[in-house]
Amino acid sequence: MPVPVVLFTADLRLHDHPPLRAALHRAREVVPLFVHDRGVGDAGFAVPNRLAFLADCLRDLDEGLRERGGRLVVRSGDVVAQVCAVAAEADADEVHLAADVSAYARERERRLRQALEADGRRLHVHDTVTDAVAPGTVTPAASDHFAVFTPYFRRWSAQGLRDVRSAPRSVRVPEGIASEEIASRSSVRDVSPGLAAGGESAGRRRLTTWLRTGVAGYADGHDDLAADATSRLSPHLHFGTLSPVELVHRARGRGGPGAEAFVRQLAWRDFHRQVLAARPAAAHADYRTRHDRWRSEETAREDIEAWREGRTGYPVIDAAMRQLRHEGWMHNRGRLLTASFLAKTLYVDWRVGARHFLDLLVDGDVANNQLNWQWVAGTGTDTRPNRVLNPVAQGRRYDPDGTYVRRWVPELRNVEGRAVHEPWRLKGPEREAARGYPDPIVALADGLDRFRRARDRAHAHDHDHD
Ligand code: FAD
Repeated sequence: MPVPVVLFTADLRLHDHPPLRAALHRAREVVPLFVHDRGVGDAGFAVPNRLAFLADCLRDLDEGLRERGGRLVVRSGDVVAQVCAVAAEADADEVHLAADVSAYARERERRLRQALEADGRRLHVHDTVTDAVAPGTVTPAASDHFAVFTPYFRRWSAQGLRDVRSAPRSVRVPEGIASEEIASRSSVRDVSPGLAAGGESAGRRRLTTWLRTGVAGYADGHDDLAADATSRLSPHLHFGTLSPVELVHRARGRGGPGAEAFVRQLAWRDFHRQVLAARPAAAHADYRTRHDRWRSEETAREDIEAWREGRTGYPVIDAAMRQLRHEGWMHNRGRLLTASFLAKTLYVDWRVGARHFLDLLVDGDVANNQLNWQWVAGTGTDTRPNRVLNPVAQGRRYDPDGTYVRRWVPELRNVEGRAVHEPWRLKGPEREAARGYPDPIVALADGLDRFRRARDRAHAHDHDHD
């Protein structure tokens, strides 16, 4: 009897996993397979924080499978060659895979299908494993994707979701299919010291706690930097240790304004995914060009370094950049502020910032990262492309007593209250207390002026070409 292969990619879980359920429905034995894909490393995506989180995920997935009588088969190399080899060893007639949106994932799918079909095997691709509503399910009248969130959200909300599938009780894996040993996170170097634990078990625990104690306060608290009152489920969504469909169902089940606001954010995730699926080039090229002539690594090296290291002289920016380095994660308000500061106040190419985020973020994700960066830079789907966030005003608003800044910027630990957001105004002993903290690398008015002039030029360019 043929044994189907289930290729795990960004869906490292046993609960609500349609490809695994479909394979188990057909056969008594299956091969759950993960391939450390050389192509992901070659593309610069295999960075320490995500490799460490991935190691947790794979160990946990293997444990979950062992509790059910099976195990995870792990291989390394070219993903297509490895899947074909395992399929041949298992005499598999089909391979199951979750659909995904990046150009890389879609090319992988195409290559896999071609290679498997050449060997007389079939590839089954399953929707709604890595998103709640698959790209292309809802579209506006005259386009293949939505470019504005609000009408997308309306249609997304009205879309019926499939039921959640339970985790299988038992999984039998044939003897004799060799596996590499699964690395532990301690074998990965240069990991952020405060990196969260990965794996489905950790994800499910966090989700349960979040639904019980966190989500109700989300509508009011999600922008409060110090309260840290968001779900922190993003790495679990990125690696698929939690199912977006299950999250939407369970959050809706809780009800209330907090759960509604949370579900809206999950829709943002699907929104960016359907943009990327329709416009794969948006991962690196402007979705909507503003004809920017950005400053670059060559022309703005010192500013970029100060931004990366969290010593711009703007406390809320520096706090957020240091949180990123320490935890491999950053609060959404911090992401908005630091991205606006780089792309607008410093007028540096958004790709420089997006790359730095992808180097460190444990949830670093092509769709969410690149399209959020473009949204902030004004080259994406935002309808207010020239808005510039003021880090002092935003700091006072979202970190009113300065707790978040003091948590991450030790040089300012002895400055009390909201004065911490403008250390250059401090006098006497307080000024002394803030010694060692840098002066601002640019005056906000100068940054704003540079940006406005650049966009005015671009606007003139637009009109020239009307
Ligand atoms: P919560 O507030 O609890 O939200 C729940 C989930 O909704 C998140 O886990 C995420 O999956 C989704 N979500 C929330 N906000 C957004 C958003 N603006 N766009 C899309 N999905 C959202 N998110 C990533 O997952 N990976 C990235 O690489 C990434 N890069 C970003 C870069 C920039 C410049 C900006 C402004 C945002 C970025 N985001 C990214 C979106 C957002 O900041 C994070 O998803 C969120 O901060 C994760 O924390 P959380 O899980 O506690 O979110």
